Amino acid sequence: MAPTVAQITMAAGMDALVNVEVGGRGVVGAMHAAARDAEGGPLCLAAADRLLRTIHRRDVVILATGLPIAPWFRGEQDGPVGAATLARALVLGIGARPVIVTDPANVALCAAAVAGAGLHVGSLEEARRLPTTAAVLDFPLEWAAADARAAELLGSLAPAALIAIERPGANEHGHYHSAAGLPLTEHCAKIDALFRAGRAREVLSIGVGDGGNELGCAKIRDAVLRAIPRGGRCACPCGGTVVPVTETDVLVTAAISNWGAYGIEAAMAMLLGRPDVLHPREVDARVYDRCAAAGANDADAGLLDPGADGVPGPLHGHVVDLLACMVRNALDFGKMYREPRYPWL
Ligand SMILES: [Zn+2]
Repeated sequence: MAPTVAQITMAAGMDALVNVEVGGRGVVGAMHAAARDAEGGPLCLAAADRLLRTIHRRDVVILATGLPIAPWFRGEQDGPVGAATLARALVLGIGARPVIVTDPANVALCAAAVAGAGLHVGSLEEARRLPTTAAVLDFPLEWAAADARAAELLGSLAPAALIAIERPGANEHGHYHSAAGLPLTEHCAKIDALFRAGRAREVLSIGVGDGGNELGCAKIRDAVLRAIPRGGRCACPCGGTVVPVTETDVLVTAAISNWGAYGIEAAMAMLLGRPDVLHPREVDARVYDRCAAAGANDADAGLLDPGADGVPGPLHGHVVDLLACMVRNALDFGKMYREPRYPWL
């Protein structure tokens, strides 16, 4: 069933909430406008709707995340937290089997995030066989090995969807960069190989990004080049842009990529009529705590404090709370005009 006018209206609000400029980078407004124009409607809803139509119970969904931060070249909490909470939502909402792929250096912190989200962490075989269990796999750093691994995973798992959350993507020269244009190539698993091979097989792909250097932002290439100071010319010898070339079917922008994942969860909860599909704030706090303790930094002061992109851990829970409120209100949208919500008034 196509989303109703009420659902589209509430979803526009969810998009607005997760795209509010909080970090002071000044790029999310332009990125969101360009992505919304390309999609022709609210982004979180488009992603949720496609996921719900495509994924069936026990289907594997591959979520790619992890953005190496210099000088440690280990991941930040933005990305792994959202991948973990979205994996939980896909399990609760659809009965999907999540498989997380990331850089070799980020396996432990992604596993910690997944466990924080309430899922068991198991082998690939266990993740396919057991409910509420996710596998966390490293992906090769070399292109040839990445191509082989992509073919192997797509063949053996037949994933119903590929979702990249705050996952750097390779530019036109095959190089990876931070949003500031600094080189990350040698530290990034070549997960673009998986998404390219997946697209060739017409597997649904979704990208979630907040800076323009993430996998999926090819869809709004011109907007990123205009919005980001080093967008058109990186700060590494490759001399290319920071915009990845691999496109995804849907691009979800957000002020912080984790919030994009939350928005997709909220839209799924709304479409399913099940508020429990969106993770609660207690789970959000636990995911941040465990991910940070496992070595993911806050992408602010470089500390292992819970938080992402300069926003401290507890504030992310408020965004979850607001989205949960919107999900509940979407379920009786406009009712106050049809009948009194509170009969004593
Ligand atoms: Zn470069």
